[in-house]
Amino acid sequence: MTRQEEMAALLLPQIDKTPAYYESLYPARQLKEGAQVTRIAPSPTGYLHLGTLFSALVNRITATATGGVFFTRIEDTDKKREVEGGIADIIEGLSRFGITIDEGFVNGTTQIGDYGPYQQSHRAEIYQTYVKELIRQGLAYPCFCTAEELDAVRQEQEAAQIRTGYHGKWAKHRDITPEEARTEIAAGKPFVIRLRSPGSEENRIRFDDVIKGTIEMPENDEDFVLLKSDGIPTYHFAHAIDDHLMHTTHVLRGDEWISSVPKHLQLFRLLGFKPPKYGHISPLMKLDNGAKRKISKRKDPEAAVHFFAEEGYDPDSVIEYLMTVAASDFEDWRRANPTADRKTFPFKLKKMSVSGALYDENKLIDVSKIEISKMSADTVYEKLTAWAKEFDPGFFEILTENPAYTTAALAIDRGNAKPRKDIARWSDAKDYLAYFFASLYVPDHTLPETVHPEDAKAFLQAYREVYVETDDRQQWFERIKALCPALGFAADTKAYKADPSAFRGSVGDLSTVLRIAVTGRRNTPDLCSIMQVLGRAECLRRINEMMNSL
Ligand code: GLU
Repeated sequence: MTRQEEMAALLLPQIDKTPAYYESLYPARQLKEGAQVTRIAPSPTGYLHLGTLFSALVNRITATATGGVFFTRIEDTDKKREVEGGIADIIEGLSRFGITIDEGFVNGTTQIGDYGPYQQSHRAEIYQTYVKELIRQGLAYPCFCTAEELDAVRQEQEAAQIRTGYHGKWAKHRDITPEEARTEIAAGKPFVIRLRSPGSEENRIRFDDVIKGTIEMPENDEDFVLLKSDGIPTYHFAHAIDDHLMHTTHVLRGDEWISSVPKHLQLFRLLGFKPPKYGHISPLMKLDNGAKRKISKRKDPEAAVHFFAEEGYDPDSVIEYLMTVAASDFEDWRRANPTADRKTFPFKLKKMSVSGALYDENKLIDVSKIEISKMSADTVYEKLTAWAKEFDPGFFEILTENPAYTTAALAIDRGNAKPRKDIARWSDAKDYLAYFFASLYVPDHTLPETVHPEDAKAFLQAYREVYVETDDRQQWFERIKALCPALGFAADTKAYKADPSAFRGSVGDLSTVLRIAVTGRRNTPDLCSIMQVLGRAECLRRINEMMNSL
């Protein structure tokens, strides 16, 4: 037994497997040429963040565009920060947004696929096997430094203006012997396992980031921790082992990890693994008083994906919007392919923003309005009531009292070539539909300044007599026009514009009066359709009510 083998046996006596065992347990994936394997590796430390959703989308569409695999892996090595239900919140949140998962955790409890377990806390033995091999090769060693000792070293480095960290001559246990280690262990001292880094700060490494382009950085010379004292790996080590054994081809992750790439590339090399391609995703930004800043988990409600659900954004609209953020060529593609399935979009990582794309709520609203305007009334009814059931139960009661009536109201100006775009999120629907429901209806009978109340009253009186509920749009309008001459109004807008002084107003003013009478608003979708949905009795009741208020 070599000295290094002695050390390995001393530190990890319980490990009886070798890397070869796992290499054969997790053989290469059988995928077509060019297929990319991506993943997200969230830590279940809280709710699903917008950044995680965005990163999941980018990983998903990368795998989809190349016929590859997208999987989820739970990085739960920090048990202290873990929250109850964290896995379910993240994974089920992704599903709600239509992000399909090929492998790994598909909900809070179920994992599928041949490369599991997909949860780091269940992979301790795998990590330890590889660490044992590194120790055997003299590439890792135990460190018994206490937090106080490490702190003292840092202070000394700071005082001497030396880069802080466990490197070079500061790496106290670098050359520890098996005998020394045995003595420390016998004394009950906890230890971590560190990498014996062969790197030098003088050397520079280069790598091609598939999003950001070529990046150059100093080589890693730090003997960073691989296994913590509880035998659980650090992120760096778990990342290398997992993405190797799970055959990830593209690690697309938040750009806060860029500075760790030298560590990661060094690990892949020392472990004898082929490194994945890295792509670092810039955080979503937002404009705050004219300045661009990162979306903050503390300050911005939209950082939590739950916000979108509460507001009633349709998940599909949010994804459609995020696609415009992810790919600078998505909007052009969408214009050319208005009804195409997003899955057929030829996504390219090179089309991502390098500096951080802007999250723009107004744009999200515009995209959402378009998406909802394309839905059928039945779909809107279904989605709206599902939202209301959860977030506005009172509104749910109102909407579902007479489903056919609500659906008819939602069908107005929908399903034609130019559908109206009034609803961006389901929470907008309450105001949009208010005049259809007695309990929500708060009419504003204020007339435009140009219309005299006496004229309004005379018109409504005359209209009551001629109103026919079954009129189609054209007949409906003709009937208002026909009342114009007797009231001194212009039936023809052009004639009115040519000489306004010759009339008391135009047919447009009269239809506005009718709109105000029936809906209590000046701006609504097609009034003829609204009146048909409301029904004759209710329309007459409202017309009378308005007349009484004049
Ligand atoms: N657990 C890491 C995170 O949530 C994963 C980063 C990665 O994708 O490698 O930031």
